[in-house]
Amino acid sequence: MLFYSTRSQSAPVSGAQAILGGIAPDGGLYVPERFPQIAPEQIAAMSAMPYDQRACTVLSAFLDQYSRMLPGMCQAAYGADRFDTPQVAPVIPLGDRQALELFHGPTLAFKDMALQMLPHLMTGAMQLEGTTDEVVILVATSGDTGKAALEGFKDVAGTRVIVFYPDGGVSPAQKLQMVTQQGGNVHVAAVRGNFDDAQTGVKKIFADDAFKARIKARGKVLSSANSINFGRLVPQVAYYFSAYADMVRAGAIQQGAPMNVCVPTGNFGNILAAWYAKQMGLPIARFLCASNKNNVLTDFINTGVYDANRDFYKTTSPSMDILISSNVERLLFELCSRDGQQVGALMQALSQQRKYTLPAQAAQALKAQFVGAWADDETAAAEIQRVYREHGVVLDPHSAVASAVYTRYRAQSGDETPALVVCTASPYKFSRSVLCAIDSAQGLDEFGCADRLEALSGVPMPAPLRALRTLPVRHQTVCDRQQMEATVDAFLTK
Ligand SMILES: *Cc1c(COP(=O)(O)O)cnc(C)c1O
Repeated sequence: MLFYSTRSQSAPVSGAQAILGGIAPDGGLYVPERFPQIAPEQIAAMSAMPYDQRACTVLSAFLDQYSRMLPGMCQAAYGADRFDTPQVAPVIPLGDRQALELFHGPTLAFKDMALQMLPHLMTGAMQLEGTTDEVVILVATSGDTGKAALEGFKDVAGTRVIVFYPDGGVSPAQKLQMVTQQGGNVHVAAVRGNFDDAQTGVKKIFADDAFKARIKARGKVLSSANSINFGRLVPQVAYYFSAYADMVRAGAIQQGAPMNVCVPTGNFGNILAAWYAKQMGLPIARFLCASNKNNVLTDFINTGVYDANRDFYKTTSPSMDILISSNVERLLFELCSRDGQQVGALMQALSQQRKYTLPAQAAQALKAQFVGAWADDETAAAEIQRVYREHGVVLDPHSAVASAVYTRYRAQSGDETPALVVCTASPYKFSRSVLCAIDSAQGLDEFGCADRLEALSGVPMPAPLRALRTLPVRHQTVCDRQQMEATVDAFLTK
């Protein structure tokens, strides 16, 4: 299988090259040459498989080059004790819908589903390509991705990971998760500035040819672990097949019958993975794209106009506070009949005017498959309370946005197609706002909130969170925006 750039100006590459490179030289994203098919019998057979074998079925369909390595890799990523449940991504009934829980990994957010796998795909790519250089993963994070990358790449031979987060711009729990990170190949620095400053600084380093030549001479190459890397997308496709197989087994859906999915969306990676699953044969009827108050995608789906010229809001679901949703580009490529010229023009408009308008046919195709809707913080909080009251389950604010959107969609549309609502973080990662929704957080610090949540929910606090109370702080570097490259240099000579 070859991988093409969405802008069609770069040559096709192998899966290993796509994963090592991250982004195509023409600025596009790598997409598979075609969608491999998973037959209905194969989907049915997944019901009896453990999660790692389900993932292996999906990954090997795209990454034929890796076929001999994949069973071992999937077992290492999803096998014994990386996740706190043997099901890895369990589906639970929640009244009139099913909930897919993607937060049972070491960092308590769905990023683990991909970032537990990506290091294996990356080292596999190094072997396949005969690379002997050390791969340096550079990450700018607004919270969840940085920790998941650190945890995924920690002590993986031949790799190093460097994470920049905005000083004062992440939640107390997120900061503590990062500064206590263990491992011999991990580096963390706070940047004086906001997330955009950190992200811009990282992009500058990626674009600095002199810097890259200098570290190459020392046997090091840069790579990225953010969600535009195809190696992050493909492990996410797997859990939609897995969820369907579980729903069939539980009698929540008949084999072959369509389901709807409702996904809390930021960068569009998670919901795009569901759309990929459909192209591969999974019967999905509608894709509900759930946004918070940063509802650029809602408007895009409803009007065909992507317009990022709008106010940016900080919400209680920070991982969805995003206006430029990068994985949309992969969907555009398909909606524009794989015309890379057209995608390139739209992306140029986005970078120059922060806005573009879809051709009419593409806009129609988008609206036919996707439902765009959003929920503000108050609505999400009310949904957390409703679900807790009616089902005794505590949702995190991101999952609550999706749940609220589905509740409203179902009431308004009367569409009773079996639905899967995707839950992306443990409520313990956002203890304070969750607690405010179901009780009160008055007078409590972060850990106090988590204790109270444990008492109310009856769900034991995840071990990685409990451990934060006693883990030593190992990373105290703080730098200015202008010093990020020098900081990388200093880390690399350590
Ligand atoms: C990253 C993230 C999202 C958004 O996922 P995308 O793939 O970027 O759309 C939603 N919820 C949580 C908790 C996340 O960490």
